[in-house]
Amino acid sequence: MESLPGAPWLEALLDAVVVVDGEGRILRANRRCESLLGWPPAELVGREVECLVPVRLEAGHRAHRERFQAAPVPRPMGGGLQLVALHRDGEEIAVEIALGPIAGAGAVLVTIRDVRAERARLEELRVKSIALDEAANGIVITDADGVIEWTNRAVTRMTGYGPEELVGRRPSLLKSGAHEDGFYRHLWEEIRAGRTWQGAIINRRKDGSRYHEEQTIAPVRDAQGVIRHFIAIKHDGTERVQAELALREAHAELGQRLVEIEELHGRVREQAIRDELTGLYNRRYFDETLAREVARAGRDRTTLALAMLDLDHFKQVNDRRGHVEGDRILAELGRLLLTQTRSADVACRYGGEEFAVVLLGADREVGVRRAEAWRRRFEAERELSGEAGCTLSAGVAQSRPGERSEELLARADAALYQAKAAGRNRVVAAP
Ligand code: GH3
Ligand code: MG
Ligand code: MG
Repeated sequence: MESLPGAPWLEALLDAVVVVDGEGRILRANRRCESLLGWPPAELVGREVECLVPVRLEAGHRAHRERFQAAPVPRPMGGGLQLVALHRDGEEIAVEIALGPIAGAGAVLVTIRDVRAERARLEELRVKSIALDEAANGIVITDADGVIEWTNRAVTRMTGYGPEELVGRRPSLLKSGAHEDGFYRHLWEEIRAGRTWQGAIINRRKDGSRYHEEQTIAPVRDAQGVIRHFIAIKHDGTERVQAELALREAHAELGQRLVEIEELHGRVREQAIRDELTGLYNRRYFDETLAREVARAGRDRTTLALAMLDLDHFKQVNDRRGHVEGDRILAELGRLLLTQTRSADVACRYGGEEFAVVLLGADREVGVRRAEAWRRRFEAERELSGEAGCTLSAGVAQSRPGERSEELLARADAALYQAKAAGRNRVVAAP
């Protein structure tokens, strides 16, 4: 017993230390045993060393101890095992243990190291590494030269290459030929300079198909600031790019459809308000317009003139030259009114061979002058083409304040009637 090392140098060790005799009894313990395991050194002395071993491991421990006593060489205990020691309060403490026979004494020096912090750190790393492996994004870690050191499962899903095919190779394995050399040169310049690179790369899978890879590549520096690795986080953007393309196509297609629909709509709208034979506005549009414009003129204290036109003896024209010729003359007058009115005027086919023109902002004199011009032109054109005998009569009325459109129309009609009565082929103004 006295030949054993004394307590003072045991106290210089940072680990908990016990000295155990051939029967497994504790001969010495240092003070670290108290802070780590809850045992004051004096209380440990004389106990079996198994008091520091969880009950479930006791039997195995004894067997190990006896084997060690039979062939004592210095060694760490339980290589690769996650050893634990039993605290006096029952808690299991993560430790590493090393054994050293003390020459000639038949005793063993046991050092017990607290590795709780290290084990916790390792566990944290293990969890993180699982998370990286299972991440939806592809992750590739290379060394500073760009040689692949690690890839996760998403990279395999994305590229078709397993980690064993990628580790030791360079990412250029995935090159598709879609980018110029300058593209990769710029990428490397950026990350070698310590900057993060972000962009889309068209790569090639193991099966030869191309895909869009959106990635962020960032350098990893050591404590001295030297770049040691690069980490690339990848996202397969193929579907997004394809969806975007399809969307753009659908959009263009839709735009084209819209133009067609609008055109169609416009045509339908025109058809609803145009008279087919003459191209002038129809009766319905005339009624709406006259009512609206009469009301507006009343509000704005302006005037408008209404001219009612009727072909003379048109019945005879039809009878003598046929209905088709009659239609042609109607269409001709329509064209004349279309070309000889202003954009603000509204020329309509009122019915059969009667026409009406609303002259916005015009008074009676202007209305008469314009109607007279149409009458003369129509007569002249008929004479030029040697078809004398078709003329028109017109009645013109100027709107009055407070007058309703029906009253205005009746006055213009009355003036037209007078023109007929006075011998036709003339314009008469309503008082
Ligand atoms: P006036 O007006 O000078 O008194 O004599 P009119 O012969 O023109 O008499 P009225 O206005 O009563 O007759 C209108 C004629 O116009 C009847 C019909 O034969 C003809 N007409 C009406 N609509 C059309 C049409 O769409 N096409 C053709 N070809 N003729 C029409
Ligand atoms: Mg008529
Ligand atoms: Mg007539």
